[in-house]
Amino acid sequence: AKAAGKRCVRSSGEAIDAALSRRTRLARDLPAALDEGQLRVLYQPVVGVHDRRVLGLEALVRWEHPLLGTIPPDEFIPLAEEDGLIVPLQRYVLGVATRKAAVLLADGWDVQMGVNVSARHLQAGCLAPDVAAALTAAQLPAGKLILEITESVLLDMHDRLLSDLATLRGMGCVLSLDDFGAGYSSLAYLARLPVQVLKMDREFVAGIETDPRVRVLVAGVVELGRTLGMDVVAEGVETDGQLEQLRAMDCRFLQGYLFGRPMPFEQLRALLSGFDPS
Ligand code: C2E
Ligand code: CA
Ligand code: CA
Ligand code: CA
Repeated sequence: AKAAGKRCVRSSGEAIDAALSRRTRLARDLPAALDEGQLRVLYQPVVGVHDRRVLGLEALVRWEHPLLGTIPPDEFIPLAEEDGLIVPLQRYVLGVATRKAAVLLADGWDVQMGVNVSARHLQAGCLAPDVAAALTAAQLPAGKLILEITESVLLDMHDRLLSDLATLRGMGCVLSLDDFGAGYSSLAYLARLPVQVLKMDREFVAGIETDPRVRVLVAGVVELGRTLGMDVVAEGVETDGQLEQLRAMDCRFLQGYLFGRPMPFEQLRALLSGFDPS
């Protein structure tokens, strides 16, 4: 038992070492990711509940590390936030996503492009000018850009953050409250923020078929959004059963693997060409 315990301690120590060194290594390599074009933006469709028509997209960034392969955003965004690289990273994503949205618009597709916002970018005070610069460079109307904000953005919600959000809203950008319901005080944010879209966290959608109480909650969120005049998007829709439930609740916008995984731009464009432009 003693030997087993020792082995256990040692192997967990090794696991920590390995995790630390991966983290250290990623942090060291991150500047090159930006400079050498190792970041890749994928696009996931948001569809209408009745006809599955693509109404929107979400831009999701990946890091194609030359040796370690694809690194997911949950792993490197926090590093970029710590190392002061998040602003250039977000500028890059904003630049690419707005240009791609403009291409689709020129093709005749009336879609909105969602970009995830980092709390640090907002705190740095340059989100609004960076968004304005990206829209101008891409010649994209502001109403075609959705800025997805999470509670982490809002944890320290002082007046300047609120006024920056109001500035973005005033420019015509659409604001979306991401991961709605995943935190503990979303309702308070909903009351104070100038958002037009609610993205319901996929944990709710995951429970919709199996847990009657979750179903009641989801129906309540859809109704709440409707009453407040907001669009509600259900995230993480994976099964036909979930789709049926959401359709019955008249949740009008859906996103999830059932309709498409995040994909490269050209693949998305090919998918779109299977429909007629509206
Ligand atoms: P998010 O904004 O909640 O994005 C949705 C995540 O759910 C994405 O993970 C997407 O691939 C995944 N997803 C979509 N449909 C399904 C489904 O049906 N089932 C399951 N299990 N998952 C699904 P991803 O791409 O790994 O992104 C993770 C998070 O990283 C995002 O969560 C977002 O918070 C952050 N992120 C991604 N791109 C950016 C970015 O450019 N800037 C910032 N600041 N954050 C980003
Ligand atoms: Ca999002
Ligand atoms: Ca989300
Ligand atoms: Ca998330």
